[in-house]
Amino acid sequence: MSNEEALAHAQNYLQVIRRVSPGYARAMEGVALGSKTKLLQIAALNVRYELMYSQFAKIGLKPRPLPGGCTAFGAMPEATDNRHVLLAQNWDWIPQVEGLFLKIRPETGPQVLCFTEAGVVGGKIGMNSEGIGLAINGLVSNRDNWERLRKPFHVRCWEILNSKTLRQTVGKIAGGERSCSANFLVGQQNKLGSGKLVDVESAPQSTLTLSPENGVVTHTNHFSNPGKLGVKQVLDEERRSTLHRYRRINQLLTPIRGGKEKLNMTKAEAILKDHEGKPESVCRHANPAFPEDERYQTVVSVIMDLYTGQLKATMGSPCENSYQTLRL
Ligand SMILES: [Zn+2]
Repeated sequence: MSNEEALAHAQNYLQVIRRVSPGYARAMEGVALGSKTKLLQIAALNVRYELMYSQFAKIGLKPRPLPGGCTAFGAMPEATDNRHVLLAQNWDWIPQVEGLFLKIRPETGPQVLCFTEAGVVGGKIGMNSEGIGLAINGLVSNRDNWERLRKPFHVRCWEILNSKTLRQTVGKIAGGERSCSANFLVGQQNKLGSGKLVDVESAPQSTLTLSPENGVVTHTNHFSNPGKLGVKQVLDEERRSTLHRYRRINQLLTPIRGGKEKLNMTKAEAILKDHEGKPESVCRHANPAFPEDERYQTVVSVIMDLYTGQLKATMGSPCENSYQTLRL
């Protein structure tokens, strides 16, 4: 896709965002002003999923790249040491993308702590002061299409992170149609003795809700049941790292699911550093077999305690960088 074409699509999406989420549009204007960048360029960054993933779907039949990979998991109170809901993920992408954590203190509504890419105001992996947490995974289906101008992915993330209840977050994911597919792993805990997790796979015109199994939920970058969503999975034959990572993450969490062990932050760190099947491992590393711009690796690793609002993260591979603690 040419720069010109990307900006033309961004213009169309800017109108959609102004209509469905005026606050988000104002925040993009603020970023454009602050960074002395054209608003359309900022808008293009904010809708990069819609532009890029639909482009991936179009070229999916040729030997071309899969979307950025991610491995996510969550544990319910009954599966953790201290009965807190934990949500964790490695986010795999091209290492040249600069990421950052934002602390958002709005005049009204929940406070937010989230990871985002430079220029993207919506955040993605993160949590809020209502005990809501969000982890995400890229998904690609044959129905993804930027020509279907719908509420963009990052605007949905922003709405999820501004929600007060889990029911609201599920409504934000499932409401209306989407331009492209994505997986949202969401949870909430605002008091001890309660806590919930739910995974919502979303295709453009359908969603599928998955519940934890024995207190644990996992997801990587493929639909669990594309037929149920009425879509076809777009998976390149040669690059099926998502299937391997899915098998492995479930294997690593088997003792937790079986009730033999309880999950805590330290164990979650060890799981996110796993190298089985390297370089296409849970802790993902550049695969020299692929062209340079397709060598995805873990660029941020995050573990969130939804009850305490504590977040541990590494910028870069968790095997090469130590976890830093951030708080809401
Ligand atoms: Zn590693």
